[in-house]
Amino acid sequence: MIRDPELLDQLIDTISRFVRERLIPNEARLADEDAVPTELLVEMKEIGLFGLSIPEEFGGLGLTMEEEALVAMELGKTSPAFRSVFGTNNGIGAQGILIDGTPEQKARYVPRLATGELLSAFCLTEPDSGSDAASLRTTAVRDGDHYVLNGTKRFITNGPEADVFTVMARTDPSNKGAGGITAFIVEGDTPGLKRGPADKKMGQKGAHTCDIIFEDCRVPAANIIGGREGQGFKTAMKVLDRGRLHISAVCVGVAERLVEESLNYAIERKQFGVPLAEHQLVQAMLADSKTEAYAGRSMVLDAARRKDTGENVSTLASCCKLFCAEMVGRVADRAVQVHGGAGYIAEYAVERFYRDVRLFRIYEGTTQIQQLVIARNMVREVS
Ligand SMILES: Cc1cc2nc3c(=O)[nH]c(=O)nc-3n(C[C@H](O)[C@H](O)[C@H](O)COP(=O)(O)OP(=O)(O)OC[C@H]3O[C@@H](n4cnc5c(N)ncnc54)[C@H](O)[C@@H]3O)c2cc1C
Repeated sequence: MIRDPELLDQLIDTISRFVRERLIPNEARLADEDAVPTELLVEMKEIGLFGLSIPEEFGGLGLTMEEEALVAMELGKTSPAFRSVFGTNNGIGAQGILIDGTPEQKARYVPRLATGELLSAFCLTEPDSGSDAASLRTTAVRDGDHYVLNGTKRFITNGPEADVFTVMARTDPSNKGAGGITAFIVEGDTPGLKRGPADKKMGQKGAHTCDIIFEDCRVPAANIIGGREGQGFKTAMKVLDRGRLHISAVCVGVAERLVEESLNYAIERKQFGVPLAEHQLVQAMLADSKTEAYAGRSMVLDAARRKDTGENVSTLASCCKLFCAEMVGRVADRAVQVHGGAGYIAEYAVERFYRDVRLFRIYEGTTQIQQLVIARNMVREVS
């Protein structure tokens, strides 16, 4: 749902200019330094990027899902690691508190997440629990007004820097499934919370992950999201539902950028006396990528609009994540092919994007997990 087309146009225009003039020229620097330059972080905060999907009452922009998808598509036109920093605040870092938090929890954390004063992270995955998230082993044992957390969380985006963590831990050891899990807000400076060294990743340099280790980490009972034990897995799944549409929109943006890079290169470079773009086999690659990016755009916007009307889009969000993550992988592969040898050389953006987009098929639910969710929901609907 688009509430005010004029305001949205202005916002998209601002973001598009920021992407073109500030982020794209700094993509190589981001990768080389493995860090978002500080001055760009400041500018991101000024534009309001840390609070895109956070309601206006908490100081965010309060975008609807359709508006957020359109913005995410613009942001996808540059290195995904830029988006990862503030995308986590808008998404998996803050949404748990926003969706299921108590009024006090929202008031304490969300306004500072919206401005970027606090950086957040989402701790679900563990060394022995990834796709099978409900089997997680981190424990939280009640001790007076506190819970004592023990366990290790793995691959946590923003882990090295985050000020506040949403942590899923098992409060009921007799329940080995989803019902035994509770979500906690854990502040980064809580004694007993330790950060492992930053992971060395294949791509998305500038976005950092690490282990988050809890060793007798005492967390106030008041920090249970929503105040009730046993609701944490549901909270985590609601958070991921919204995240899937956001990530899908980012995939569409990246695919559109790669189509543009491929087309420009194919027009400029000549072989056999004519531009590459005049060779029909190259045209086929360009056309396939254009078509797939358009299909992704259409389905994400459709699902986002439905979500805005209150429809349950759990299946459609998984359809979008499945298609768009795979689609951008194919588009990146063709982009390298259109560039020939240059596509394999780091000087060209497509080499970096090829590595960056590989992650989309893995995190926030792998492709196989999306397939399982879609099929399970289909069967459930019939029976
Ligand atoms: C850069 C990065 C950032 C991340 N950020 C976060 C974060 O911020 N917070 C967080 O909690 N997690 C994060 N993750 C973790 C991510 O969500 C998991 O890696 C992902 O869910 C897959 O889990 P896994 O790595 O344990 O793989 P596994 O679950 O071991 O899966 C391995 C393979 O088996 C397949 N598979 C597993 N089960 C089935 C099944 N039942 N049927 C068919 N196939 C199956 C998978 O699809 C996959 O192909 C991040 C990961 C990375 C790499």
